Amino acid sequence: MTEVRVWSIPMTTRFRGITVREGVLLRGAAGWGEWSPFVEYDDAEAAAWLRCARETAAGDWPAPLRTQIPVNVTVPAVGPEQAHAIVAGSGCSTAKVKVAERGQTRADDLARLEAVRDAIGARGRVRIDVNGGWDADEAVAAIPVLDRAAGGLEYVEQPCADVEDLARVRRRVGVPIAADESIRRAADPYRVRELEAADVAVLKVQPLGGVRACLRIAEDIGLPVVVSSALESSVGIATGLALAAALPELPYACGLATVNLLADDVVAEPLRPRDGVLPVPAVPPAVLPEALDRLAAAADRDAHWRARLARVAALLDGDAPPAGQAGQDAGQDGRP
Ligand SMILES: [Mg+2]
Repeated sequence: MTEVRVWSIPMTTRFRGITVREGVLLRGAAGWGEWSPFVEYDDAEAAAWLRCARETAAGDWPAPLRTQIPVNVTVPAVGPEQAHAIVAGSGCSTAKVKVAERGQTRADDLARLEAVRDAIGARGRVRIDVNGGWDADEAVAAIPVLDRAAGGLEYVEQPCADVEDLARVRRRVGVPIAADESIRRAADPYRVRELEAADVAVLKVQPLGGVRACLRIAEDIGLPVVVSSALESSVGIATGLALAAALPELPYACGLATVNLLADDVVAEPLRPRDGVLPVPAVPPAVLPEALDRLAAAADRDAHWRARLARVAALLDGDAPPAGQAGQDAGQDGRP
C-alpha cells in the first residue's frame, strides 16, 4: 500500500452510540479500499477488516451476477415523526428499524414501528434489529407485540446476544430470525447452522474479511443472505455491493443504503439509492482528492489510525504474535 488517508465524517444521526465515523482509505493496484473497524475493536478483530480493504484495493472482486441491488432504508432509534419522514423520503419498500435502544421503552419501539408501517404502506416490508438487546424470554414476549404494531415483520435480527438463545427464540416465535453478531463477531459463525438458530444470515464484508470470504461463508452456512454495511463511506458500500452482486441468490433487500447516516462522503457521487435500489459498481469508486482534504482527520486521530493500521498490518502479515481471540461475545457493543 502506497497511500493511506485517514478521514473523519460527522454522523447525521447518532447511531450505535457514535456521532462521528472515522476510517482509513488504502490505495492499491485497482483503487481505494476502506478500512474502518469501529474504534473499540481490538487489533485481532480489526485484522479481518483489513483483509477486506486490501482485497478491494487489489481489485479482487468476483464477477457480478446482477447490476442493481434492492436495499432497505435504515431507521435509527428516533421518534415516530422522524421515523416516518426517513421512510417516506427513502423510496425504499423495505425498512429496517432499530429497537430495544438503551434508555428507551417498549412504547418508543411500538410508536416507531407504527409510524414506519404508516409511511411504507401495506405492501412494504418491515424488519427490526435488536442488536442482542433481549434475553430469550423477553424476546419471546416482545416479538409478537412488535409484529402486531408493525403490521407484520419480515424478520427479527439478532433478538438475543447468545446464539443458543437465538435458537430457543426461533423455536418459540413465528417470525423468522436473522443472525448478525452471531456470525460476524462469533468465534465460530457456523454455530448458527449447527443450532438451526436463524432463517437469514446477515453478512458484512469488512468484519468477515472481504467479498470472497463472505461468499464462502454464504455457501457453507446454507441460509439466505442479507448484505449489510458497517456504516462505511461509499468506498466500503461499494465492496458490500460487490458481494451482493456475486451471491447466487438474493431474496431480501440489503442493508447498504446507509451513506445518508454520514453527513459527507469521499466520492463524487455517493451511493444513495434511487427507487429502492443501488447500482453495482464494476470497480472500486474513484475518491475525490478534495473530499479527502476536506474530511481529513485531526492530527491526533490521524496518528492514532496510522499506528493502529501499522499494528494490525503487522498482525495480518505475521510480523507480530497474535493477540487473544477477540469479540466472542455478541451484544450491544456489536452494533450495528
Ligand atoms: Mg444488525
